[in-house]
Amino acid sequence: MTDPYEAGPQSGGRPPAPGRLGLVQAFVNTHFDLVHDHGADLLAAPAGLAGWLEERGLGGRPVTRAVHGRALAVREGLRAVLTHHNGSDADSEAIAALSVLSGGLPAAVHVGADGRTVPVPAQSGGDGALGLVLAVAHEAQAAGTWKRLKVCPGPHCGWAFYDTSRNASGTWCSMQVCGGRVKARAYRTRSRA
Ligand SMILES: [Zn+2]
Repeated sequence: MTDPYEAGPQSGGRPPAPGRLGLVQAFVNTHFDLVHDHGADLLAAPAGLAGWLEERGLGGRPVTRAVHGRALAVREGLRAVLTHHNGSDADSEAIAALSVLSGGLPAAVHVGADGRTVPVPAQSGGDGALGLVLAVAHEAQAAGTWKRLKVCPGPHCGWAFYDTSRNASGTWCSMQVCGGRVKARAYRTRSRA
C-alpha cells in the first residue's frame, strides 16, 4: 500500500510537494498515468477511482457514479485553481463547481496531545478522501506552500508540479518537456516570420 500522502512520480525530476500536500498533487495528476501509459486517466471509470483510493488506504465504501462525478469535479476544480497559481487563465466554471461541492464534503481535524492539528479523513471512501484533499489544501494555504503547487500550461499537459524556485517563478512542469516544446515553437514562428 502507498502512503496516503505520497506525491507519486514527478515530471522533469522535480521534487514532490512537501508532506501531506503530496496527496493533492497526486490526486490532480491522476489525469495522466506517468508510470504505465502516458495518456491514460487513472480515474476514467469509477473502478479506477476505487483502486486509487484502496492503494492509499482511503477506500472502504463503494464508489458510486455520484462519488465518481464529485471526484472528477473536485480534481478539475483544483486543476483550475492551480492553473491560476501559475498566473494563467483558469476555468472559472470548474472553480465554481468545486466551490459548490466543497461545503458538502466531510472533513475532520485531529488534535494531538501536543495541541497540534492534523487533517484526517472524516469517513472512509471517496467523499471522505475528497474532504481530506480539501482539508490538506487548507493546511497548505496556512503553511504558505499552497501557491507553489501549480499546473503546467503546456499543451496537453495540465501536470501539477511543486515550484521550489526561490521567488516561485516556475512555469513549466519540466523545461525539457513543456518549456522546451513551447520555446521551440516560438523559435520556429519567429524564424518563419
Ligand atoms: Zn507540462
